[in-house]
Amino acid sequence: MSKLEKLQSEKKSGSKAKILLEVKNLKKYFPIKAGVFKRTVGWVRAVDDVSFFIRKGETLGLVGESGCGKTTTGRTILRLIEPTAGSVHYGGNDLLAMSRGKMNKYRSKLQMIFQDPYGSLDPRMRVRDIIAEGLRSAHVGNKKERYEMVEQYMEKVGLSKLYVNRFAHEFSGGQRQRVGIARALIMNPELIVCDEAVSALDVSIQAQVLNLLDDLQKEFNLTYLFIAHDLNVVKHISDRIVVMYLGKIVEIASKHELFINPLHPYTKALLSANPIPDPTIERKDRIILQGDVPSPANPPKGCRFHPRCWLAGPQCSQEEPPLIEVKPDHYVACHFWKNMEDQN
Ligand code: SF4
Repeated sequence: MSKLEKLQSEKKSGSKAKILLEVKNLKKYFPIKAGVFKRTVGWVRAVDDVSFFIRKGETLGLVGESGCGKTTTGRTILRLIEPTAGSVHYGGNDLLAMSRGKMNKYRSKLQMIFQDPYGSLDPRMRVRDIIAEGLRSAHVGNKKERYEMVEQYMEKVGLSKLYVNRFAHEFSGGQRQRVGIARALIMNPELIVCDEAVSALDVSIQAQVLNLLDDLQKEFNLTYLFIAHDLNVVKHISDRIVVMYLGKIVEIASKHELFINPLHPYTKALLSANPIPDPTIERKDRIILQGDVPSPANPPKGCRFHPRCWLAGPQCSQEEPPLIEVKPDHYVACHFWKNMEDQN
């Protein structure tokens, strides 16, 4: 059964939670300009034919090394960056095919929390205006009503309403990220894209913010696309995990399945590099990948991972492996996934 047929049958039978957002064949290429006339001489294929779905109420983790295209994927879904091709279906509509005006009607339902809480908050604005900004743009309530809502949502995210008149620089990093969460939450969203939302925070603060996101998900029935490079963070919060490498998805599985039975060599290497909490225990299964990540402007032919893969055969440099469902809800793009399973 193809992925599409399976999704359709799930939708009909209602056997799984409803699919909230479906990304199909998403591409984002950035032009490389050169010369006096700034002619386009090539393309950086940051996101190259990516398809996945997010179920309502789940947290989908999106992981990969820096530069693999995960942040571009998140931003393109919300049209903060315009896509090159593909579709993003939400509520029966393709967000990418909409006019900018129509898309604005969906903006409140699709919010984003950014990595750098300081950089994403206007230093000249008081926090009450930062949090109320989306409401004002959407013409929700009058000024007094908006400020009342701001106070309620500040308390929801663990900030005292006594801080409403402060500026961003008067908060700690963790508090600033709570402001970012309140700013997204006040719009009553269905989906929040968390782009490296805790990466800039200390480990103890990370745990507090992750627990807050967890609590808010339950209270408001939120769905998260959680983008991060830290597998421990993704493991903590995700229900399913998508692994990206050089603009492509290489594996999708539930977090338990992915950590116990990774079927793509890249996933296995990522997991082996994940630090274990006890520094006295020496890691024996560490896989050191050879070479650097190739340029997305000139990706290798066939499987993009083949120059660094210890399992590669002649087929790998010629044929690109498709992403296929090899077990229920476990997708992998590798010609030799069965060999990987034997090794697990
Ligand atoms: Fe390695 Fe080949 Fe699988 Fe790519 S398709 S991950 S090169 S074994």
